[in-house]
Amino acid sequence: MTERVVLQSDDVSRALMRISHQILEANHGGADLVLLGIPTRGVPLAQRLGNNILAIESSRVAADHESGDSELNASAALQRFVGALDITMYRDDLRRRPLTEAHPTRIPDTGIDGKTVVLVDDVLFSGRTIRAALDAISDLGRPRAVQLAVLVDRGHRELPIRADFVGKNLPSARSERISVELAEIDGTDRVVIRDG
Ligand code: 5GP
Ligand code: MG
Repeated sequence: MTERVVLQSDDVSRALMRISHQILEANHGGADLVLLGIPTRGVPLAQRLGNNILAIESSRVAADHESGDSELNASAALQRFVGALDITMYRDDLRRRPLTEAHPTRIPDTGIDGKTVVLVDDVLFSGRTIRAALDAISDLGRPRAVQLAVLVDRGHRELPIRADFVGKNLPSARSERISVELAEIDGTDRVVIRDG
């Protein structure tokens, strides 16, 4: 088996910070944004993008709200616009997949109607997960727009789906497997490509 590290910890951080800026640039700021991570690893990724966006926007937000929000802790601020979207029930290959532990959907209290929803996942491959996520979203509300951010695009799309924000394009062989390791789950940040 061959193994190649394609992103080190610092590379992951830098890619996520760049994507955070790109999301803000594309949407003219962070107002009306809702970030929804797709379990498992899309969820901590969405939280990190949310934290970056809060940090980037904090001076402007502080000016807008004077001191009113100052007691709001960081995690409460994050929960106002970052959530999780469980797509298990929307997969078209549900019967072929083992039942995994439940990752409940959590939508911020503001809902998604009229919002710009940014779906966040670790790897984009065939596009079937995102197709399922679009189904799940249409049962939850009517966003103004839906965008997609992924840490890795490994190619091999089977549907007309593309990412708006990409950490790293990694053209891969079908036989290869990209391992995305995140500190929250795996203890360290790393992206490794494995074959064999
Ligand atoms: P798709 O539905 O686009 O075929 O695959 C994307 C989903 O499957 C993502 O949620 C992703 O987590 C997972 N996935 C597909 N291929 C890979 C891969 O090579 N590595 C990892 N870590 N996840 C993958
Ligand atoms: Mg996944």
